[in-house]
Amino acid sequence: MRIDVISLFPEFVGQCAAFGVVGRARERGLLALHGWNPRDHAEGNYRRVDDRPFGGGPGMVMLIDPLRGALRAARAADPAPARTIYLSPQGAPLTQAKVRELAGRERLILLCGRYEGVDERLLRAEVDEELSIGDYVLSGGELAAAVVIDAVARLQEGALNDAESAAQDSFEDGLLDCPHYTRPVEHELGRVPEVLLSGDHARIARWRRMQALGRTWQRRPELLDEAALSEADRRLLDE
Ligand code: SAM
Repeated sequence: MRIDVISLFPEFVGQCAAFGVVGRARERGLLALHGWNPRDHAEGNYRRVDDRPFGGGPGMVMLIDPLRGALRAARAADPAPARTIYLSPQGAPLTQAKVRELAGRERLILLCGRYEGVDERLLRAEVDEELSIGDYVLSGGELAAAVVIDAVARLQEGALNDAESAAQDSFEDGLLDCPHYTRPVEHELGRVPEVLLSGDHARIARWRRMQALGRTWQRRPELLDEAALSEADRRLLDE
């Protein structure tokens, strides 16, 4: 998969995607990341990328042409069709289902805003969708782009050493994940639940499912409305 990032700070996004699973995915050739700086497509001695908003008010707005130049250069760099996404607090919330959909694409272009945002005409003409990473405002889209890259990279086949671990994660089946324990069995902070030491795989699976259902019910009950629950799950919830 190839991801192009349009940003005034493309190196920052590259650094965020240099470690752990994402770094390994890049080393393994599962993910290619390319940065494009709108400043390289700006005119004049000052290579200006922003200007004051029409109508007055505080802050600056990113100019159309440097962004369009960077977008065109990114598109021309590879013939594969790319989906262009603007990271924005006004976008649709990023969910694991959306991450799965994006992870299956050959190419993404992530557009990072700064200042008050981007001239609306550029968004209307060049962007396929807007995504938000939450109901709060960041100073730039770079961290949001890094979030998308991380979430998408770990779903590339071969990125995780154990592919099953992604399937067990929160949201994959609509529920939160169960709690996890490792050595030592006995610790001053407590003992590992007996069932996990039993070696009885059916009991362990049932316990984990109960925990996942219980946690979801306690912490995010609204997820249960959408989750595909079996009759056995419903019985466990009633217990
Ligand atoms: N004036 C804009 C608004 O209120 O919608 C906020 C601009 S914000 C200071 C600058 C840039 O950060 C945005 O253009 C966007 O790219 C990025 N950004 C901020 N919050 C974000 C969020 N929650 N999700 C994704 N991107 C975000």
